[in-house]
Amino acid sequence: MQFTMPAFEPVEPQIVAWKELLPDEQSLVMAAVRASDDAYCPYSNFSVGAAICARNKNSGQTKIFTGANVESAAYPLGRCAEGNAIGKAVNDHHRIFLAAAVYCKKAPGRNGTPCGECRGNLLEFKIEDYPVLVVYETDANGFPLMVARYTIEQLMPDGFCPASLGMLVGS
Ligand SMILES: [Zn+2]
Repeated sequence: MQFTMPAFEPVEPQIVAWKELLPDEQSLVMAAVRASDDAYCPYSNFSVGAAICARNKNSGQTKIFTGANVESAAYPLGRCAEGNAIGKAVNDHHRIFLAAAVYCKKAPGRNGTPCGECRGNLLEFKIEDYPVLVVYETDANGFPLMVARYTIEQLMPDGFCPASLGMLVGS
């Protein structure tokens, strides 16, 4: 068999120094850092924190929701940090996402980007493209020094989403 592989364009995030982030971005990243302390991960010891800033379509109110990963003895069953944050936001009727942040204590950098399922679920609540901030480098205490700023469209290009079915986001 033979296949032709088109030229590959890797996804390049903006790598931003902590002090160059917008204040609201810093707040969101720190919420993800703090959330990672709540991880239940006795099997992998790989704690992850996530934070999502989301808007309520009716009230216009914006709020930050956080989550951490929750593992199960029936490993690999479990929930991602992003999935838990998404669940909280959506159940609280904040279904328009404005920004997300992810922090992997053990693996800052490109290893800490959201998994495929979470990318799809983050895309589900996008009206306009929004930043996904992934802690890229930390100091010895785990404080973020560099952050990779992706967008959800970068992480999930041409993803299946409500518009694929002619639906509105955040209904
Ligand atoms: Zn995930």
